Amino acid sequence: MKILVLNCGSSSLKYQLIDMEKEDVVTKGTYERIGQDNSFVTIKQNGEKTRLEHPVANHDLALKFVMEELLTGEKYGVIQDLNEIDAVGHRLVHGGEKFSSSVLITDEVIEQIKECIPLAPLHNPACLLGIEACKKQMKDMPMVAVFDTAFHQTMPKENYIYPLPYEYYEKYKIRKYGFHGTSHKFVSKRVAEVMNQKIEDLKIVTCHLGQGASLCAVDGGKSVNTSMGLTPLGGIAMCARCGDMDPSIVGYLMDTLGKTKEEVNSILNKESGVLGISGISPDFRDVEAAKAEGNERAALAIDFYNHTVAEYIARYAVSMQGIDVIVFTAGIGENQINIRKGICEKLQFMGVEIDENINNCRGEEVEISTSNSKIKVYVIPTDEELMIARDTKEIVENR
Ligand code: ADP
Repeated sequence: MKILVLNCGSSSLKYQLIDMEKEDVVTKGTYERIGQDNSFVTIKQNGEKTRLEHPVANHDLALKFVMEELLTGEKYGVIQDLNEIDAVGHRLVHGGEKFSSSVLITDEVIEQIKECIPLAPLHNPACLLGIEACKKQMKDMPMVAVFDTAFHQTMPKENYIYPLPYEYYEKYKIRKYGFHGTSHKFVSKRVAEVMNQKIEDLKIVTCHLGQGASLCAVDGGKSVNTSMGLTPLGGIAMCARCGDMDPSIVGYLMDTLGKTKEEVNSILNKESGVLGISGISPDFRDVEAAKAEGNERAALAIDFYNHTVAEYIARYAVSMQGIDVIVFTAGIGENQINIRKGICEKLQFMGVEIDENINNCRGEEVEISTSNSKIKVYVIPTDEELMIARDTKEIVENR
C-alpha cells in the first residue's frame, strides 16, 4: 500500500510518498513560495536533493506539478500511474473539539474543518486548499485528515480551561487545545516500545523542541496536559515565539507604543523567544556559537529557554503525580546536545542524571540517562509523516 502524505501551509506544500509495506519513504519534497514569482520545489529521493524552479500561482498548480512531474513524470517519477497511490493523508492543524482522532474526509468533515477556521485562521484554510486540490487531481481517492490537536482531546477539563468568564469557553470555544499531537503520540508510543514496557504503565513527558515547541504529559498513553494553548503561540518560549507571558503586555504594546494588533501579533510570533532575548537568531546553532564567544544575551536566552522547559517538565510531575521518562524530539530536541544537557541539569533535584558521553549524539534513538537516574531520559526522532500515513492506512483499511 502506498500513501501520499500532504502538509499544506499558506505558501507551501510538503509531500511524502510512503510505501507502507516496510514504511519506506519513496520520495518527498517541499514546494515553497507558492503564489509568488519565485516558487520552487526541493525534492529528496535516493539520498539526493534536487531544487527545481517552477513558479506556480496556487496550490492546485503546485499539486498538479507534483503529480505529473515528480510522482509520475519521466525524469523524476517514482510510480507509473497515480492509481498506484492507495490513499492520501492530510495534516490538519486545528480540529477544535470536533475531532479527537483522525477521520476519513467526507463533505461533512470538510464543513466541520471549515467551522474550525476561526481557531486557526492562517493554517486551516491552507490545509483545505490541499484537500480541494487533491479532490480535483485525484477523483475518488480516499483521503484522511490527521489533526495536530486530536491527541490532546483527552485532557481533563481543569487542564484545558482558561481562567476567563466561562461563557467564552461555552460560546466561543476559547480553551487550550494543544498542538504537535501527531509527534507527541508517535514518540510516546515509540519510547514505550524501546523501553519494552506497556504505554499504559508509563508517565511520559514528551518535549517536542523545534521552531515551534511544545511539551506534553502522556499518562498511560493519553495526553493529560500540554504547553501550547488556544493557538501555537502559548507555552514555552520558542525560537521566535514568545510563549507564556503576562497578557497585559499586549495592551501595553498597543496603547503605550501605539502598535497595531497586527504588529503586536507579528512581534510575538516572529521577533520574540530566543531570537528576541538574544537579538541574534532564531536558530539555536547561531545562538550557541555566540554564547561560546561570550555573548551575554545569547547565554541569557539559552538559560531562559532551558529553565522554562525544565519548569514545564516539573509541572507535569504534578499533572501525572510522577514522571517515569522524559523524551526529547524535533530539531532541537534531537540535535542540540547542550540544550538537553542544560535542561536535565536543572532537573537533578528530581533525580534526573544523564550520561554526557551518550548524550553527545545527534538524531539518534538513544537512552541518555544513567542507570542511577530516577527518571529515564531518551532521544526519539519524531516522524509526523509516518504517523499520518499509519493513521491513514488504518482508517482506509477499516472503512
Ligand atoms: P520545525 O518546527 O520548523 O519543524 P525543526 O524541528 O526542524 O523545526 O527545528 C529547527 C531547529 O532545530 C533549528 O532552529 C535548530 O536550532 C535546530 N536544529 C536542526 N537541525 C540541527 C542540527 N543538525 N544541529 C543542531 N541544531 C539543529
